[in-house]
Amino acid sequence: MIERLIEILNKEDDKHPLALHEPCFDGSEYQYIKQCIDSECVSSIGSFVTRFEHKLSTITKAKYVIATINGTAALHTCLLVAGVEPNHEVLTSPLSFIATSNAISYCGAIPHFVDVDNHLNIDPQRLQDYLSAECHFQDDYCINKQTKRVIKALVVTHVFGHPANMDELLELCERYNIELVEDAAQALGSTYKGKPVGHFGVAGAISFNGNKVITTGGGGALLTNSKRIADKAKHLTTTGKVSHPWRYRHDCIAYNYRMPNLNAALGLAQLAHFPTILQQKRKLAEYYIEHFADIADACILKEPRFAHSNYWLNSVILEDGLAELRDHILETLASKHILCRPAWDLHHTLAIYEQCPRANLSNAENLFPRIVSLPSSANLMIKLQAANKERANEDSNHC
Ligand SMILES: *Cc1c(COP(=O)(O)O)cnc(C)c1O
Repeated sequence: MIERLIEILNKEDDKHPLALHEPCFDGSEYQYIKQCIDSECVSSIGSFVTRFEHKLSTITKAKYVIATINGTAALHTCLLVAGVEPNHEVLTSPLSFIATSNAISYCGAIPHFVDVDNHLNIDPQRLQDYLSAECHFQDDYCINKQTKRVIKALVVTHVFGHPANMDELLELCERYNIELVEDAAQALGSTYKGKPVGHFGVAGAISFNGNKVITTGGGGALLTNSKRIADKAKHLTTTGKVSHPWRYRHDCIAYNYRMPNLNAALGLAQLAHFPTILQQKRKLAEYYIEHFADIADACILKEPRFAHSNYWLNSVILEDGLAELRDHILETLASKHILCRPAWDLHHTLAIYEQCPRANLSNAENLFPRIVSLPSSANLMIKLQAANKERANEDSNHC
């Protein structure tokens, strides 16, 4: 697999490190940022934020979008508007970026880990078996029999941009009176049965960090279809200030989570060429899938049959039994300046979350050590095409 990857990424040379995921700028970003600076509104007030929110609403088909300072803040707000309170438990996957569990902790709630399927997302079947064995209903609340705490919500991460099985998860949440929140941080542009992810449940979060499909430097957004939830989220992310022309009155302890105008200007420029970015990412995924087809010891993680993925991070799963090869692969590729990554350490194996309640996590534990994420920048396909062309030209010059 190592030789093959070096070959298909044209990395016989040792120059030009290949990043895991770089932002993709087309030059229009300068104009938007200049306009924003010229307007003198670079901070929490200005038109770029509302324009960015409108554009995002068109792209994601979410009725309401609230832009935030980062994806973690958006997720924290999602959980607050879902009614998560101290000592509630929130079901989630141990296989996600740490922000998922941290956002739950910020609410004073406790992450409760459940297992994943072979697409690395929460497995509805395992979840159903677990809930029917470990929980019971009391006053319309789903209660963890062991800890006696209320299980208030489920956070579903669409891992690497591949959508989770939403119909089945939604059905379960309805049956157990659990709020569904999506951590769609990695999944802007991904669809489940034709519908963009991020607003299947009460609310969902997206991230625009530098390594995501588009970036605002740092930034995030909360998506929802409910006006009541949107109003609450807007209030919570803007310090709980009561609307008034000059007075500073705040009716709750809230947060300063509003996305600055300058970041939104960058985001608006990025959204203008987002369709091209998505296309390039899909082409790269197809390139990897095609070239990995005949590799015996690893397979590319493909989008589930019910979904269209943005292929945020192309990843391979090493064959069963090859887990001890992972670090050797990562080291060898790094020495060739190909920057690959393992998945995030499973949350229940971290000291900060090892005490949390959890289901049997055997599938997550089995898959985690075999995951390698590959360079996935949108502009990588363009670079590869250029390099292939150059090589073809050289070959024809030789004859
Ligand atoms: C990136 C990410 C976040 C957090 O986003 P930030 O903008 O970095 O705060 C949350 N959850 C997941 C799964 C992510 O990948």
